[in-house]
Amino acid sequence: MKYDVLKKQFGYDTFRPGQEEIIDAILAGQDTLAIMPTGAGKSLCYQIPALMLPGITLVVSPLISLMKDQVRSLNQNGIRAAYLNSTLTPGQYAKALALAQRGEYKIIYVAPERLESASFLRFVDQADISMVAIDEAHCVSQWGQNFRPSYLRIKSFFETHSKRWRFCAFTATATAQVERDMIELLGMRDPQVVKTGYDRKNLFFAVEYPANSFSRLLELVRQRSSQSGIIYCIRRKDVEMLCEKLQQAGVPATRYHAGLSDEERNANQEDFIFDRKPVMVATNAFGMGIDKPDVRYVIHYSMPSSLENYYQEAGRAGRDGQAAECILFYHAKDERVLRFFIENQDFDGVDEAEKKERIAKDWRRFEAMKNYALCPDCLRHAILAYFGEPSPTRCEACSNCLHEYETVEISESVHTILGAIKSVRQKFGATLVLSLVKGSRSQKIEQYHLDQSAFYGNLSGFTMRQLQDILRFMVQDGLVETTNDTYRLLKITPKGNAFFKQPASLTMRQYKKAEAAQAAADDVFEGLRAIRTRLSKKYRVPPYAIFNDRTLREMASA
Ligand code: ADP
Ligand code: MG
Repeated sequence: MKYDVLKKQFGYDTFRPGQEEIIDAILAGQDTLAIMPTGAGKSLCYQIPALMLPGITLVVSPLISLMKDQVRSLNQNGIRAAYLNSTLTPGQYAKALALAQRGEYKIIYVAPERLESASFLRFVDQADISMVAIDEAHCVSQWGQNFRPSYLRIKSFFETHSKRWRFCAFTATATAQVERDMIELLGMRDPQVVKTGYDRKNLFFAVEYPANSFSRLLELVRQRSSQSGIIYCIRRKDVEMLCEKLQQAGVPATRYHAGLSDEERNANQEDFIFDRKPVMVATNAFGMGIDKPDVRYVIHYSMPSSLENYYQEAGRAGRDGQAAECILFYHAKDERVLRFFIENQDFDGVDEAEKKERIAKDWRRFEAMKNYALCPDCLRHAILAYFGEPSPTRCEACSNCLHEYETVEISESVHTILGAIKSVRQKFGATLVLSLVKGSRSQKIEQYHLDQSAFYGNLSGFTMRQLQDILRFMVQDGLVETTNDTYRLLKITPKGNAFFKQPASLTMRQYKKAEAAQAAADDVFEGLRAIRTRLSKKYRVPPYAIFNDRTLREMASA
């Protein structure tokens, strides 16, 4: 029977992992909590029982756009479904409710706020309801993302009105705390918890530390020009700026954030879904409930505030099961923006103690995100470990596993950097200290006459990227720390001071690939130059008339 529904109503031949188990549990009358990654196919797990049970299924869903999409696609499959939410006019609402009362719909999507409306409760009390399904159930927990206070009313709604209805809940958030909250705060009775693995094998993970984010982004997008992709930024103004620059560069990009009008958001979303504009630049307001199966890449232009958010957003790539890429750009400066967000969120009606606790909690979540961005080992393993899922320590399919590492001795460089921090009296942040030892020029360097410093240029042989790696190592190793304010000044810890007085051997893994690729490109460049010299002699033309150096460089790195 469930196979018939799967095939006839949805056109699929087989269930995906977890789906059958969940459907069986629901049909057996057990409260069911399903935890599956984004794109795993959770909707089907309540839609199929909904069609098999005699009465109506209510689906509580947090987002209007999500309800609309789901209802539209159900209707396209010939399934009678509707939504009741604040976008309906009073007339439309009354009409939909009347149709529902006559049993016209098998599946009705409602916003959690609806559970308090008198007319809706009257309907509920006399309707033939078989099941209540809670989508995005983590919204009930303050520990999850997107906490929605109105989700807390679900429990008493269910307890007061249920006539032995089935009860099931769905989420992609898998941390233990959120899981406990969902069971307790939704009032699930001894639920069967079904978790499918968190690993999305078709996703390739990468972290990059681009020196010039925009040109790197443009390069990545151009290399994937026929593909559909999402670019996430934290701030609305970044969305606008990036979208405009991409458009100017000829990329068919569109944009989405909460500050745009409803019309523009809808139009842009449709442009993206129907591939008229295959590149979407958006804040995290975009995506929940958007079912575009063939998103081939998700690039985070800046880091989101938690690994939960990251995995959910990145997980919007490759829902069709085909290979897709999730690329994160890391910049130390993102931390400042996120810190501002964390400290300036809406604390209305929250007392001082709780405010402190929330900030501390968000900060811990952010630290986990940062650790991922700076992780030198397998990225997939890092994500899965965070969600409590055992996995091999190498996946051989992320940027870190594919890079080659070498172990380098860094005690001298560490000593120099510590000395430089001392020389500026621990009053500056990473950028300045590293520019100092690298011997770069900048306004600040000149302003403070740091080019006169004994440390100026002492580590000029290193690339900036290598120096950042070393400093990161120093932070992780507890030799220095950054102040917890917006300035992020570098401070030497007692451990760092001890090392400075008496240096010992320190080794660190550093990856070679970029350098190796550069070295290879340099060799090719030299080779091409030699050929050019020969040609220029033979045909008696100046070398630049054949190819200029820039062209040769481009050819060499291609
Ligand atoms: P989730 O809510 O878990 O993020 P969705 O329910 O939106 O995921 O489903 C993601 C995609 O997977 C949808 O395009 C859906 O049609 C598809 N899908 C779900 N179940 C199956 C299945 N058994 N076979 C093939 N595709 C499926
Ligand atoms: Mg879903």
